[in-house]
Amino acid sequence: MNLPEKFGENVFNDSVQKETLPKEVYQALRATIEAGKQLDVSIAGAVAAAMKDWAVSKGATHYTHWFQPLTGLTAEKHDSFIEPDGDKVIMRLTGKSLIVGEPDASSFPSGGSRATYMARGYTAWDPTSPAFVKEGTLYIPTIFVSYTGETLDKKGPLLRSMTALDKQAKRILRLFGVECKKVSTTVGPEQEYFLISEEEYLKRKDLQLTGRTLFGAPATRGQELEDHYFGVLKTQISEFMRDLDSELWSYGILSKTKHNEVAPAQHEMAPVFSTTNVAVDTNMLTMEIMKKVAKRHGLVCLLHEKPFEGINGSGKHNNWSMSTDSGFNLLDPGDAPEDNTLFKLVLAAVIKAVDDYQGPLRASVASAANDHRLGANEAPPAIISVYLGDQLGALVDSIVNGKEYKSGMAEKAGIGVPESPIFPKDATDRNRTSPFAFTGNKFEFRMLGSQANVSDANICLNTIVADAFEQFADELEGAKDVKKAAETLIARELKAHYRIIFNLDGYGPEWEPEAERRGLLNKKNTADAVPVLYEEKNINVFVHQGVFTREEAIARADIRLENYTKIINIEALTMLEMAKRDVIPAVSDFIGDLCGNIAAKKAVFEHIACETEKTLIKQLSSLNDAAFAACDKLEQDLARVDKDNIGSASQAMAHVIIPDMENLRKWVDEMETLTSSDYWPYPSYFDLLYSVK
Ligand code: ADP
Ligand code: MG
Repeated sequence: MNLPEKFGENVFNDSVQKETLPKEVYQALRATIEAGKQLDVSIAGAVAAAMKDWAVSKGATHYTHWFQPLTGLTAEKHDSFIEPDGDKVIMRLTGKSLIVGEPDASSFPSGGSRATYMARGYTAWDPTSPAFVKEGTLYIPTIFVSYTGETLDKKGPLLRSMTALDKQAKRILRLFGVECKKVSTTVGPEQEYFLISEEEYLKRKDLQLTGRTLFGAPATRGQELEDHYFGVLKTQISEFMRDLDSELWSYGILSKTKHNEVAPAQHEMAPVFSTTNVAVDTNMLTMEIMKKVAKRHGLVCLLHEKPFEGINGSGKHNNWSMSTDSGFNLLDPGDAPEDNTLFKLVLAAVIKAVDDYQGPLRASVASAANDHRLGANEAPPAIISVYLGDQLGALVDSIVNGKEYKSGMAEKAGIGVPESPIFPKDATDRNRTSPFAFTGNKFEFRMLGSQANVSDANICLNTIVADAFEQFADELEGAKDVKKAAETLIARELKAHYRIIFNLDGYGPEWEPEAERRGLLNKKNTADAVPVLYEEKNINVFVHQGVFTREEAIARADIRLENYTKIINIEALTMLEMAKRDVIPAVSDFIGDLCGNIAAKKAVFEHIACETEKTLIKQLSSLNDAAFAACDKLEQDLARVDKDNIGSASQAMAHVIIPDMENLRKWVDEMETLTSSDYWPYPSYFDLLYSVK
């Protein structure tokens, strides 16, 4: 493969635009993209024509406005390029069809903010994310808005949050004499996933309907040997990864790193970072391509946050930073951060933002599936805190507590092998237990779920940091000596928000009570985490930064709770179906056959003991009764949930239905360990986790 040639072959990227567009059109389009200027409608026709010709040369017959409704997924409706011309057709894409589309919006979630009969929704081209051809269709990235301009998707608010941050960050930079056209936020999302055999997958209703195993006794071997992480790739996996990379590269996705993860059958792909909205689009495309490529290899790619109990689940570390159009990274501490007032100010803004808006940040990563990770000993805890590492931790300590700070703590480290070079010690060591860690020149927000659209977390981050910047800029713009005033402000803010900094083990038992003493939030599930979004302060910050209207903010919180409730409901119903129709009858059959065996044995040897059969029968009978009773309780509790009231329904799901489900699972999993595998209706964890060769 000629990689540089293959890279981006399916993308209408800058080079293709330059090659195919008339010069003035190209320049106008670049100005739109780079400076965020309004697109001149008169050039849309020329861009559309060139885009269509290029797409047709790549085999496209259709185009689609590709958008990200509040389902968290992507949506597309395909139109062909054909237009009648006498008894023939011509291929055409008009400027208008490039810029706006009108899908029927009535069947997408809107949180009750828009009556269904007013279902007019529009998609509008986002020229900052490049179009591409996939499977014979030209994909045009768009935002999705209602007739009245209300956003109905994740991308609209994301772009607004980037605009808000750009505006306020430029004010901060100007104070320090740094001029630039634009400040963009950048994101590199590290994608974790599981690969299992398709044949086994198709035998599990739970995986197919809910994305995770609702039952399943652990395999006798999990991840305790710590031998899967970075382990040698199995042939089938390695072939999948090669195929995946090749496909990702063809779409211009900067797939960089691939490796085995901690749990058996778990893997990771990390791309090189890009501008946030492009990172979001390419991550959505990456997840889709992972699933498709897996299928070609007889595999299924599971993106659920917790497909298997007892081993690690999957997340998506969101590496986040801000940089100017000339590539100056606002989170780069430089060699002497202690003298770098601008850096310290930016750092203080992020720390303040994260402390002031812990609630919305926590809510931005909350989902039914991610609830299985956060707070369990594998992902960061449900408490938001900031990790700074040794060097910056000491710097902040010196500012807040007046402790001495020695510059250049990141000295050279030798490894005691003379042939091997000395390397500079990283300024930050890794602390995998922190939800929000400074890693050199960026923050890594580690609470995101593997299947999440990363827009939600980034909308929140961009907005709250923009707000902190705004407050700082308001205060400093009038100052006679900006540097001096900034140093005073930095010290004051770091003191005020010192409680959010935690450099120790976030998994340790001391952290929860300590966090409580510090007054930090600890919301353990979605039903409890999302309601903070209705608080005045948390609505206002989004409204003030122009990211959500009040109605949009409330509608989005509603949708999160509604979605949570629906998912738990589906899981509960699936469990009931599996237990009542498959597991309980299978165990009963096994018991019946054991009884038959006793009778047969007794017929031959009158006084034979049959202890094994009798013990098994007794144990399994009482477990099956317990499982049946657990089904009954779950069913009754489910019937009592008031599904029309999302507040009380989500609470009931979290605090009544989930414990019921855990109870049912306990009995079923125990029966699995006692029932002959010939009778058990589903592939075991061993079959699921170890059948790929
Ligand atoms: P680490 O080893 O600390 O995880 P890596 O260099 O492996 O850091 O990067 C992890 C991810 O962070 C990659 O996706 C990378 O592209 C991304 N990343 C690096 N720099 C930035 C940045 N300035 N903004 C956003 N993401 C970044
Ligand atoms: Mg990392």
